[in-house]
Amino acid sequence: MTTHVERFAPSPTGPLHLGHAYSALLAFDAARKAKGRFLLRIEDIDTTRSRPEYEAAIHDDLAWLGIEWEEPVLRQSDRFDAYAAVLDQFRERGLLYPCTCTRKQIAAAMSAPQEGSDMPPPYPGTCRGRSFADMDGDYALRLDMRKALVSLGGAGVVKKLHFKETGRGPNREKGKIALDMPALIETVGDIVLARKDIPASYHLSVILDDAFQQITHVTRGHDLFAATPIHRILQALTGRPTPIYHHHDLIRDDTGRRLAKRDDARALSTLRAEGKTPADIREMVGL
Ligand code: GLU
Repeated sequence: MTTHVERFAPSPTGPLHLGHAYSALLAFDAARKAKGRFLLRIEDIDTTRSRPEYEAAIHDDLAWLGIEWEEPVLRQSDRFDAYAAVLDQFRERGLLYPCTCTRKQIAAAMSAPQEGSDMPPPYPGTCRGRSFADMDGDYALRLDMRKALVSLGGAGVVKKLHFKETGRGPNREKGKIALDMPALIETVGDIVLARKDIPASYHLSVILDDAFQQITHVTRGHDLFAATPIHRILQALTGRPTPIYHHHDLIRDDTGRRLAKRDDARALSTLRAEGKTPADIREMVGL
């Protein structure tokens, strides 16, 4: 029997708020219930936005909530060589092309969707067909999704790829979720896998690290549900296993908007300072 391994993977780019507490507690409780393991991963790949004080606050807030995790904690900034090795293999397989589109466009495509709000609009393929030989200076690496489809064995094979959803997506999707690669090519297009100053995008680093940490169950907000088919494709392309996914409802503020890192009113540190207890936090998120 394989052990149940859960993780909580925050980015140290702001204070943790109620939504993070909900995710972390759900994953921690699930691991406890299954007599499994619970890991913490610091997603500090974007060194331009990550701050040590936020990382310290993550440890502090989680410990206060009564969450225990295994040491050592994995930090993505220690994994750059592993990401580079996979990018080299992709490049040798002819799956990548260099992209020189605007910084803003690329930045939106690099981070976890909920941080830059929603999934970015589909990439029109402006730089597709560019060759590395013609490049000098700064460029990002994009995955050619059409070539990825061919490399995976074509539409017939890809149609059989799926992931298991034990929670639910934004439209109540659950159970066995099949991939629709033609739709993905339309709605997402060629994803960014790296940028000069950020050695792997959210999508690539997350699937490599879940495999490296032998995560069997991923618990996260349903704002990341739309990213999961991309993760499934990257798992297939890199031969990494697919965990079971549990996307949960989002904790919203009083006006019904999802919480963002800038909502300081719902920051755990604010709630703690107001005298709330860990039991109050559990109650506030409906646990
Ligand atoms: N690091 C991501 C975030 O803080 C979450 C990654 C994940 O759970 O897949 O938004």
